[in-house]
Amino acid sequence: MSAGITLFTGSGRLAVAQPHVAAMPGTLSPWALLVGDGRILWVGEPGELPSEPDADEVLDLGSALVTPGLVDAHTHPLYAGDRSDEAAARLAGQPYTGGGILRTVAATRAASDEELVDLARHRLMAEVAAGTTAVECKSGYGLSTDEEIRSLRLIARAADGLPLRVTRTFLGAHAVPGEAASASDYAHTVAKQMIPAIAADGLAEFCDVFCDEGFFTLQDAEMVLSAARGAGLRVRMHAEQLFRTGATELAIRFGAVSVDHLEQLDEAGVAALAASNTVATLLPAPALVMRGHVPPARGLLDSGVTVALASDANAGTFGGWGQMPLVIGLGAALLGMTIDEALTAATVGGAASLGLSMERGRLAPGLAADLVAWDAEHEGAFALRLGSVRARRVWVAGREVQIET
Ligand SMILES: [Zn+2]
Repeated sequence: MSAGITLFTGSGRLAVAQPHVAAMPGTLSPWALLVGDGRILWVGEPGELPSEPDADEVLDLGSALVTPGLVDAHTHPLYAGDRSDEAAARLAGQPYTGGGILRTVAATRAASDEELVDLARHRLMAEVAAGTTAVECKSGYGLSTDEEIRSLRLIARAADGLPLRVTRTFLGAHAVPGEAASASDYAHTVAKQMIPAIAADGLAEFCDVFCDEGFFTLQDAEMVLSAARGAGLRVRMHAEQLFRTGATELAIRFGAVSVDHLEQLDEAGVAALAASNTVATLLPAPALVMRGHVPPARGLLDSGVTVALASDANAGTFGGWGQMPLVIGLGAALLGMTIDEALTAATVGGAASLGLSMERGRLAPGLAADLVAWDAEHEGAFALRLGSVRARRVWVAGREVQIET
């Protein structure tokens, strides 16, 4: 038997989160799980353990609820500055125009590399400490070729050595910078200048566009997505947040892995997603703070769309880092999902949203051994204790992460 095999066991509930494999229940109790080389070798009932696993280490997690590491498929971690005043003004009645993004852009451009790396690193560590083991990180507070490239490089520096899987997304088309002649002029720069440079240096896996009224039109988004696909980037989109624009159908046409937000999505949009392979990534935390519409989670799930839940932690509309346990609770309490659906959306769904389904999000042989033992015994705690369920122990690729508790 090879060295370095760990046997995890528990008398509590193990959420294997594998809804598409009929032979395996969604939850096991009691359970056993074998890990070697950072990957899951076997998972099942203790009585069915393969003979003589000969584990080097046995970890009994007792009655704790254990889940796959959470996947946060939508965040904006690289920024400086503070817009709490803007949140207060908005909640006092000022409309959201997104203009505040440019305040963050100014603060981010003015900040040093070291300051930005330090800020992003703390945000990512908060994610890990709260049980998130894979996270998507967008640029988009630079809005010039040099600043967007700097943002993507600094995200990599911030993530370097941290125990989590980071997916980088280029979001040059996040807002129109003050110096641009027009939105379409700037979109042209994104498509013709930024995307070729970023793809050539391998600085991002995805390209994203904020396609909405007051931001980028369908035509602008089409130009950007077309360039991204041509350069070999995968695509995703901020869609239907403020208005129903048809961004969803455009994204599907470009083979988007995910469309995100969808607060304004209608039945035709749900049907279009149901007929596609595109994931719907829903962001209940900013929807709650913005006091606006919530996305049609029930309709999407009932139509068979793969749904992900993510935090959308960012500089302006929701600034909570390490809040995926809250997001699961909001998926249930605010969006009408069951807890099983919400937990699945924050694990299996998040992995699908990032194209990582064969790597993360489930507890199955061959996948990364990313595990979280919670200070809870049942997944219902995510709703009952809204926002206060804590990760007690976290393992990434089979190695325990030292988290501050
Ligand atoms: Zn966002």
